[in-house]
Amino acid sequence: FTGKTGSELFTEKLKKFKVWEYQSLPVVVEEDVSAYDAICAMFLEDVGTLFVTNNKSHLVGVLSRKDLLRTSIGSKDLTSVPVHMIMTRMPNITICEPEDLLLDAAQKLIEKQIDGLPVVNPVEDGLEVVGRLTKTNITKALVELARDQHI
Ligand code: ADP
Repeated sequence: FTGKTGSELFTEKLKKFKVWEYQSLPVVVEEDVSAYDAICAMFLEDVGTLFVTNNKSHLVGVLSRKDLLRTSIGSKDLTSVPVHMIMTRMPNITICEPEDLLLDAAQKLIEKQIDGLPVVNPVEDGLEVVGRLTKTNITKALVELARDQHI
């Protein structure tokens, strides 16, 4: 018997969770696709955040629902607005890496008031997108821990 309370064990386990254990698959679009196609991708893939890549498949931006709504409010033709014009761009993207602690990633979501982070691996001349970490992933980790199904 370790003498630890339930809450101490809970915290101890929570502090060990890594991003890669809970991340989802990223949904990625290239920087020259239209806002119209990005909206279609968001619906089809059922995500709230798209990651934007260049022709080398490196991360160049993030596109959220609000970015697309803002663009839609104007009377522009959405098929002629490329996503690179309306996305949040590098270097202003908050990222995480697979080996980061889930709690640190969760703190970034709160501090930056955003819904998701791209999970990236640094490569020679950029960042390769390998996953998506959202508030839903954090919620799943908490529920799993509370139900003690984590092995
Ligand atoms: P929503 O627009 O659906 O409320 P967010 O709150 O995540 O979604 O996005 C708010 C703003 O922050 C958008 O302009 C979006 O481009 C930007 N954003 C989203 N995720 C990130 C991120 N990981 N790093 C930097 N900016 C982000």
